[in-house]
Amino acid sequence: MKGISILGATGSIGLSTLSVLEQHPGKFQLIALTADKNVEKLHELCLTWHPKYAVMADKKSADKLRDLLSNYDTDIEVLGGQDGLVTVASLPETDYVMAAIVGAAGLIPTLAAARAGKRVLLANKESLVMSGQLFMDAIHENGAELLPIDSEHNAIFQCMPTNLDKNLNNMGITKILITASGGPFRCTPIQELSAVTPEQACNHPNWDMGKKISVDSATMMNKGLEIIEACWLFNAEPEQIQVVIHPQSVIHSMVEYEDGSILAQLGNPDMRTPIAHALAWPERIPSGVRSLDLFDIARLDFEEADLQRFPCLNLAADAMRAGGTSTTILNAANEVAVFQFLQGSIKFTDISRIVEMTLTHIQPAIADSIECVLDADMSARRHSEQLARELAA
Ligand code: NAD
Ligand code: MG
Repeated sequence: MKGISILGATGSIGLSTLSVLEQHPGKFQLIALTADKNVEKLHELCLTWHPKYAVMADKKSADKLRDLLSNYDTDIEVLGGQDGLVTVASLPETDYVMAAIVGAAGLIPTLAAARAGKRVLLANKESLVMSGQLFMDAIHENGAELLPIDSEHNAIFQCMPTNLDKNLNNMGITKILITASGGPFRCTPIQELSAVTPEQACNHPNWDMGKKISVDSATMMNKGLEIIEACWLFNAEPEQIQVVIHPQSVIHSMVEYEDGSILAQLGNPDMRTPIAHALAWPERIPSGVRSLDLFDIARLDFEEADLQRFPCLNLAADAMRAGGTSTTILNAANEVAVFQFLQGSIKFTDISRIVEMTLTHIQPAIADSIECVLDADMSARRHSEQLARELAA
């Protein structure tokens, strides 16, 4: 039995992970479930799943959960704060860590899992975007395993040789083709984008996800973050990665080889497939995802990405090329801008403006320590919050 801790258990990926685990009793032991402030949901999950630990990142919420659970005959230990997240990510009985916290808040606990040599199931792409080199070093230096959950990266991983080489050329790989649905605004007239609402932005055509990543999909910053994520995971340069708009979201990504072969991974758009893949790797287990009906799909379309419509794509690739804390700054500015957009304070089109202006204003540094990464994150947040206030006024 493998012990698993789920960071971000109440979210979209967390719940999909539980849905896969439910189908495999006896294979995995649930060590910990964590959430931020959603006491009610974590309480409900605790009563169903009986983990050894439950962690609320928000300490007051941890007190509330402890109170609620005291009414039941259970020995679940409730922890609070970031220390609690780090503890459950590093426990000896935790073999696998599902890193499914959204945003920069996921960095420290995910890094703790890497440092403790766990199998890290990485959904929290932001931690790689913020601190790619440090994170990859932590994985390699501590004998941890890194399995991508992001559907595109999981697909790329599946299309690569089993004995991964650090060099794409040595594997005969010429290109990584990362697919993107184009989100809800792929065909919206560009001049209408400044007036779109958070509800419209969160209404993704194919995937049912948390709010932050849904907005990122609408701006295509999600694909930008994924280019950076792929560069770190597969030791690629941004030039080796091509974005392919594929509105059906059936091909989750592809790898091109020097003999002209392109390998693709296909499936219904349901995150339980990559989750089951990463849980069982190198074996396979059922995920609960229904079989793909090719006759029902009938056709697959491909388009080039419109860089004028989606300026975030180039902002992300440029930040990756600039290196150091540039991608940390990009990520922080984007998180602030997306939050302000969801609050109704700024326009959809202000998101890329804020990211661009923050990247221009803040000088990147060498990302050689986690303190340096957190400093860059903090300065970028301060600057973009100021910009958001000015744009809202
Ligand atoms: P979500 O908003 O549905 O869930 C986020 C989870 O993180 C919740 O459990 C929440 O309690 C927890 N959380 C939020 N803020 C926190 C904080 N400050 N401290 C500790 N915990 C906190 O998000 P999601 O859609 O499940 O996405 C999770 C991660 O997976 C993101 O990094 C996202 O980019 C990535 N991802 C998601 C999908 C998807 O289909 N949802 C696909 C690919 C990648
Ligand atoms: Mg993805």
